[in-house]
Amino acid sequence: MKIRDILAEGKVTLSFEVFPPKTADKFDSVEMAAREIAKLDPSFMSITYGAGGGTSDYTVQIAKMIQEQGVTPLAHVTCYSSTREKVHHVLDELKENHIENILALRGDIPEGGQTPGVYHHASELIHEIRSQGDFCIGAACYPEGHPEAPSKAVDIGYLKEKVDAGCDFATTQMFFDNSIYYSYVCRVLQKGITVPIIAGIMPITTKAQVKRAVQLSGSVMPSRFLSLVDKFGDNPKAMKQAGIAYATDQIIDLLANGVRGIHIYSMNKPDVAAKIYENLSEMIQ
Ligand code: FAD
Repeated sequence: MKIRDILAEGKVTLSFEVFPPKTADKFDSVEMAAREIAKLDPSFMSITYGAGGGTSDYTVQIAKMIQEQGVTPLAHVTCYSSTREKVHHVLDELKENHIENILALRGDIPEGGQTPGVYHHASELIHEIRSQGDFCIGAACYPEGHPEAPSKAVDIGYLKEKVDAGCDFATTQMFFDNSIYYSYVCRVLQKGITVPIIAGIMPITTKAQVKRAVQLSGSVMPSRFLSLVDKFGDNPKAMKQAGIAYATDQIIDLLANGVRGIHIYSMNKPDVAAKIYENLSEMIQ
C-alpha cells in the first residue's frame, strides 16, 4: 500500500526504522530484529540505505521480507555517491518486488568531500523517481535546520523544492524538544508546504548514543533530557528505562497536540520498539 494513502486515512500512524547490516555475517540478526518489529504490525517500516552504497543491496532484501510479513515497507534510496544507472537498477528491483514507497535522500557527503556525480540534491532524485513510475515518495526534513544549510528559512525553501518535485510526505530528523517541531510545522505551512510532516523520535537508551545523536543531527538536547543522562547514564538498565520513558513522553505530547504521524528510530532494537508500542497501545487506536 502507498504510504500517502495510509496517511490520508487521517488516523494516527506509528512506524519504525531498521538499518541493514554492513556485512553479510550480520544479515541474519538484522533480519530477525526486523521480523520482530514487524510483528508489532506498525503502519509501515522504513529501511535505511548506505550513503556510500555499502549496505544498499540489503535494503531491498529487507524491504521485501517486511512486505512478506504483511507490513508496508519504505525503502530509503540515497543518490549523492550514485550513478543514474545504479538508481535505475534499484528502482527496477523495487518495482519487481512491488515495493511502492521510497524515502528519497541525497545522503551524507563522504569524508574527504567527494565530488557529486549526477545528483547534487535530493530534489533531483525525486524528479528522477517520479519519471520512473508511480512510487509514493518521502523526503527528509530538519526542524533544527540541516547542518549544511545557511539558515532554517533557506532549508525550508529547499524542502519546498522537494515537495514541488513530487514528494508526498516528509519525515523529520530526530528532535528532543517538541516545541521545535511545533514551530517548524508552522513555518513549513507558512511556506505553502502542506504534505504531512511525520515526527521522527529517537529513543536514546545508552549514554554513548547521546554523543552520536548530537553529531548526526546537531539536535538541541533539553536540560530535562541531559539531567536524565547525568543521573542514569552509567546504569545501563536505568538509562534504557529512562530513555524509553522520555521518548514515550514526547510522543504522548505530540499525540495530545494532534500530531498523527510518528516515526520511531528504533535502531534494530525490537525490545525498545515493543516497549514504546505497549506504552502507547490505547492512545494509537
Ligand atoms: P537535501 O534535501 O539534498 O539537502 C542537503 C543540503 O543541501 C541541505 O543543507 C539543504 O538545505 C541543501 N539543499 C537542498 N537542495 C538544494 C539546492 N537545490 N541548492 C542548494 N542547496 C540545496 N542517510 C543515509 O545515508 N541513508 C539513509 O537511509 C538516511 N535516512 C534518513 C532518514 C531521515 C528521516 C533523515 C532526516 C535523514 C536520513 N539520512 C540518511 C541522512 C541524510 O542523508 C543526510 O541528512 C543528508 O546530509 C541530507 O540528505 P537530504 O536528502 O535531506 O538532502
